[in-house]
Amino acid sequence: MTLKIAVQKSGRLHDGSMQLLKECGIECSNGSNQLRIRAANFPLEIFFLRDDDIPEYVQDGVVDIGIVGENVMLEKKKQNRLVEKLGFGKCRLSIAVPRNEEITSISELNGKRIATSYPVILRSYLDMNLVSASIHEISGSVEIAPRIGLADAIFDIVSSGSTLFNNELKEIQTVLTSEAVLIAKNNMDEEVNRVLERLLFRIRAVRKARYNKYVLLNAPNDKLDLICSLLPGMKSPTILPLAEPGWSSVHSVIHENDFWEVIEQLKANGAEGILIVPIEKMIL
Ligand code: ATP
Ligand code: ZN
Repeated sequence: MTLKIAVQKSGRLHDGSMQLLKECGIECSNGSNQLRIRAANFPLEIFFLRDDDIPEYVQDGVVDIGIVGENVMLEKKKQNRLVEKLGFGKCRLSIAVPRNEEITSISELNGKRIATSYPVILRSYLDMNLVSASIHEISGSVEIAPRIGLADAIFDIVSSGSTLFNNELKEIQTVLTSEAVLIAKNNMDEEVNRVLERLLFRIRAVRKARYNKYVLLNAPNDKLDLICSLLPGMKSPTILPLAEPGWSSVHSVIHENDFWEVIEQLKANGAEGILIVPIEKMIL
């Protein structure tokens, strides 16, 4: 049984999606100029499509699963379920107004015109906040709408903010944060679902590994208890005696979020020769 996955043909999510599949050990010759390719060593067929079309193809069963931005999933409102967040393609969707405007909050947008490519998300946000504004849907270059007199405000994707800055706009409200997500159709064939579970197992192992580092360090034996208490590890740290008497080597795993703080504490408590090594896959 083959699992069919839709990946963005070209654009911001293409490389991250292909990289993830590669790290899952799935070999597929890079054929993004083809419509679809089969993986050599996993029952997976990859379809390359425009991101906007993916939720519908998933709903209709042309493919079983797809990778899209959460923003696209929410905007298209198709019969899809979110299976897994994937940790790349991060961005936010915000409301912005011309920098020289006095406006600072969305309540001041009552009666104004807002240009966007995401009318569904914007409408539900405005309704929820009891703001009545008119929405002008445009498909690209939303950021120029205020300058050409088409709108008073925009609602669009922001990543670094430089596009807003270059267009003399200021962000007044973040509406949504988004990242790439794996979506699936609702009623999946049982055999296909088993292939999806195998893929998910690999995706989770790859993602956990990305967020964790393997740490090796040397510690004087009288500091071992203290140092081990700073290092939770997967079960508990591994301790190996060094050839030099009175010293041990300690091995463990640290989460990226705690990384620098833990390293500082380890150093402060007598750890030496600290090595940090990337983890390729992590299966708990
Ligand atoms: P397509 O040709 O497939 O329709 P597109 O032009 O609609 O592509 P991209 O600009 O490639 O889309 O963006 C795809 C997704 O990448 C967005 O929907 C969003 O989830 C995510 N993304 C992350 N960072 C950014 C960013 N800085 N600008 C735009 N999209 C971003
Ligand atoms: Zn698109």
